[in-house]
Amino acid sequence: MRSGIGFDTHRLVDHRKLILGGVEIPHSQGLLGHSDADVLTHAIMDALLGAIADGDIGQHFPDTDPQWAGADSILLLKAVTARLREKGWQIGNIDATVLAERPKLMPHIPEMRNRLAEAMGIPTENVSVKATTVEGLGAIGRREGISAMAIATVTPTP
Ligand code: MG
Repeated sequence: MRSGIGFDTHRLVDHRKLILGGVEIPHSQGLLGHSDADVLTHAIMDALLGAIADGDIGQHFPDTDPQWAGADSILLLKAVTARLREKGWQIGNIDATVLAERPKLMPHIPEMRNRLAEAMGIPTENVSVKATTVEGLGAIGRREGISAMAIATVTPTP
């Protein structure tokens, strides 16, 4: 078994949708980025790529490439999953934490887990998503952005 870690941060701005784990969440602001800026899905992709020592999402989906402008990160996660499969790996489990002062994410977590699990082709019970505030401290605490961290395990395909 191998494991990988992923971390990502995006800035919160006006006039953008807030997408986390493939789920659109009603909020006054959204995350800024070249793609849909789904910080949770990005952290998970980096954890998966890290587990097989295959670079990071910046390498595979460069933000200088117009192909990825406004990209649905769930489709990118599907592409990363396919890449793992091709290389002979299957995904074990994911555990992730979203750091956000607002909005309250708890009501949306079941749907995020379902969407992420479906994209990776694994059971929902193998995908954990947690959310925490940072007690008002720092940039995240000032609601300037949202961060996410994730760990993934993978095993060789039998
Ligand atoms: Mg990102």
